[in-house]
Amino acid sequence: VISNLLSNAVKFTPEQGNISLDTHFIKEENGICTIQIEVTDTGIGISEEQQAKLFGSFQQAENSTSRKFGGTGLGLAISKRIVEMMDGEIWIESELGKGSTFAFTIKAERGVSESEMQSLPNLNSQKIRILAVDGATEVREHFTEIAERFGLACDVTDSGEEACALVRQGGSYNICFVDWNLPDMDGMEFSRRILNVYSDAPPYIVIMISSADLISLENETKGVGIDKFLQKPLFPSAIVDTINEYLDVDKLIAMEESSPEHAEHFAGYHLLLAEDVEINREIVLALLEPTQLDIDCAENGAEALKMYSESPDKYDMIFMDVQMPKMDGYEATRRIRAMDSPKAKEIPIVAMTANVFREDIENCIAAGMNDHVGKPLDLDEVLAKLHQYIRR
Ligand code: ADP
Repeated sequence: VISNLLSNAVKFTPEQGNISLDTHFIKEENGICTIQIEVTDTGIGISEEQQAKLFGSFQQAENSTSRKFGGTGLGLAISKRIVEMMDGEIWIESELGKGSTFAFTIKAERGVSESEMQSLPNLNSQKIRILAVDGATEVREHFTEIAERFGLACDVTDSGEEACALVRQGGSYNICFVDWNLPDMDGMEFSRRILNVYSDAPPYIVIMISSADLISLENETKGVGIDKFLQKPLFPSAIVDTINEYLDVDKLIAMEESSPEHAEHFAGYHLLLAEDVEINREIVLALLEPTQLDIDCAENGAEALKMYSESPDKYDMIFMDVQMPKMDGYEATRRIRAMDSPKAKEIPIVAMTANVFREDIENCIAAGMNDHVGKPLDLDEVLAKLHQYIRR
């Protein structure tokens, strides 16, 4: 019955229209549930007069219909028989030119399976911020529902430009869901901007939603840094799964624990800071002053290497700029890791880099760094790293 209603909807709805399939639970009596299923389209619609006849055999709304669209006029008659055999009813609400809703009920025994919507285990939902950009109302509604249900902060919009503005206004989102086909912008352009152009933004997790063939999209978007592709139709459970998959529980907990009130916990620890630009060194020193960390500065990779090798026991962590004269951060890291000391292999080294291309981050990891923070530095992010690595 559903297939029949959907294929009619497809047949009688022009290209840019919408078709939706909804299910509602109506009531339960003695273990028997009444379920209502509706297929709604924004197609050509059916006049009131014709509506009355449609469920009869060989009925078509207009005589010309069979010539134009094909069909026998039997589908709805058969659907009605099937629905009635399941103790249900079928009816239509429609307006000519505006679209139609075909609805039917069935009675069925309650099953035993669990609700499809999983939980967000161990996540402090209050810390999660989501941005969802999609032209389709129902997709935006899924996000709003999930946000309400789990207490997440979620901004939704159908416009790529507005989404960019939200990001630029400092929306530090943990994860962005974006449709490939936005009404005003290509989802890829949005991703490129937030991942590669707004370099002051943190490295976002970007999930691309699309009804197109995902394999070809993955090829087209190589190098942009999209984390995952989700196929439409998009179900709430897939969104929840993705949030679980991508939001690193430990990282969020670390962020939470390292809020500025806890900053003084770092007294007595030593940090080595390798950064060639004087103003940047001053910024780090000023930012971290409340932490009471002891900070030594090196002006390039070679100096950092020298300082570290002279007193490897002194330091608890290294913040390493990547681009520096004399010796860059990669080389300095490789040489520290190659030193003949177990501590040198273990000391946490975190890159400070303005580049948020996946490739740069991979290079940092390949050189032996543990992690990276984006530039300009964000105090919360820096504190989270200190917390994660120094207190480990
Ligand atoms: P058919 O096999 O010819 O499609 P159906 O019984 O399924 O027969 O449908 C009968 C007629 O009802 C169609 O020919 C069409 O005129 C009308 N109809 C059915 N669904 C729709 C719809 N979603 N929008 C507009 N007209 C519809």
